Amino acid sequence: MVNEQNRYVETCPVGCKGSLQPTDIILSEGCLLRCSVCGQLISQCSKSQYQQSMNEFDNPKGTLSDGDAVERHYRRTGKWLFQIASKLDKPSHEIHLLDVGCSSGAFLSVANNFGFQAEGVEPAPQAAQSACSSGLKVHQGFLEDIKFPSNKFDAVTMFEVIEHVRDALSLLSECHRIIKSGGLLMIGTANTDSWTARTMKSHWEYFDISRHGGHISFFNPQSIRVLAQKCGFKVDSIKTHSVLFLEKEDSSAITYRAAKLITELLNMPSRIVGKGHDMLIFLQKP
Ligand SMILES: [Zn+2]
Repeated sequence: MVNEQNRYVETCPVGCKGSLQPTDIILSEGCLLRCSVCGQLISQCSKSQYQQSMNEFDNPKGTLSDGDAVERHYRRTGKWLFQIASKLDKPSHEIHLLDVGCSSGAFLSVANNFGFQAEGVEPAPQAAQSACSSGLKVHQGFLEDIKFPSNKFDAVTMFEVIEHVRDALSLLSECHRIIKSGGLLMIGTANTDSWTARTMKSHWEYFDISRHGGHISFFNPQSIRVLAQKCGFKVDSIKTHSVLFLEKEDSSAITYRAAKLITELLNMPSRIVGKGHDMLIFLQKP
């Protein structure tokens, strides 16, 4: 089922000129489509469905964690910031960093604590307002509309952002313009060339726009490489981790525990062969 009339994403978000082919990943808005050039998977949702699903992001709490998750978030974010500083070979206080789609500033506040000169961009007004009220430097709007000077940042980060945009090529080209020569773009998104996507297909919650607002464009290492090349970035590294074969809600407690044990055993191999479903990407502006 290909619903061409009403589709929000009309062409491959990576900018390929190839055709979009139906896949066997069947969702309520129609099957996902696959770009014949880069393998990108594309949703057939309508513009109104997309806009409605994005509303969930506009709240003051944004992506701030609570409870145990705070410590986990701090540890994970700290590790990423350390990677950025060591790849740039600069002390944190000399690194000017921009977090695109920063929500209420969970990543930015850790970056500030580590001494980075960090600022953010967030389109959702309430989330951006909440970040500003906690003392963070956040610009409300879309990156392309802020018009930062060229070559301003040492590093730009984007976590769980590019799967929400229908023109990833324009977004990454703008990132390329504002990053200094030798600077980094760090991207976190999911990998559809993963054991999880291959096994779970439409049962993978990640593809469900009603549970993950705005998810319309799904990447794999090849589509990232094509995108990077089109925008003038060099691929520094693409790493993946994590496997999932069952969603908790879809199974009994015993089945879920058994499946979880298997996925824990497969976690390390998935990292080694690049078939994990979480993907962390470092691109460099030459
Ligand atoms: Zn493509």
